[in-house]
Amino acid sequence: PKVDARTGRHVGCEALARWRTPAGEYIPPNRFVPVAEQTGLISPLGNKVFQLAAQQATRWRRAGIDAHIAVNVSPHQMRHPRFVQQLQQILLDTQADPSWFELEITENAVMEEVAQAVRIMNELGQLGFRVAIDDFGTGYSSLSYLKNFNIHTLKIDLSFVRDLIRDHHSDAIVRSIISLGSGLDLTLVAEGVETNEQADFLREAGCDILQGYLIGKPMPAMQFEQWLREQALDL
Ligand code: MN
Repeated sequence: PKVDARTGRHVGCEALARWRTPAGEYIPPNRFVPVAEQTGLISPLGNKVFQLAAQQATRWRRAGIDAHIAVNVSPHQMRHPRFVQQLQQILLDTQADPSWFELEITENAVMEEVAQAVRIMNELGQLGFRVAIDDFGTGYSSLSYLKNFNIHTLKIDLSFVRDLIRDHHSDAIVRSIISLGSGLDLTLVAEGVETNEQADFLREAGCDILQGYLIGKPMPAMQFEQWLREQALDL
């Protein structure tokens, strides 16, 4: 779940893939995602995740639930020649609207092949998707891409958020990212928010959206609907 840092109101969620085998064994994403990337299965897996998110978003809209879904895109997926067309096809099949989604792309994915990334992000933007840079500040960043790329959101990496308040270097980095992002009219999302002190710091520094265990742990979609209902009662 994600909430507005100022009002505490929900704004949507990030879709996360989880794998439990028929025998009940839990396989964490840091084990299966690298294997999927090595074998090329990441493209069908990524498309499946987007398809499930699109079906969910369409159901939610029909039920009057206004929740945006952020979907992670792997750099390997982006290199697939039909990446954008596949997303378009899924939108058609599920009758979902691109404006309901934010596609999260890691900074390293962008920097690996800048020219290709610019082209793809522009195509995604033209289709009506929002685009976020994930794990901002941890990659081989070049600030020049912020000037040229069609992006809407910066996600402040949890390694900075985790050390807020007890490490003044993290405080300074987070403040700088927020100031940079707001100057560029980008939405700022902090991930990995676990304490009220971190949330207060981020709100006062001007961060727009909070995500992390303090807001809500990752949960199945059905449970998220229940979480939304409880949020509405709290307001
Ligand atoms: Mn992400």
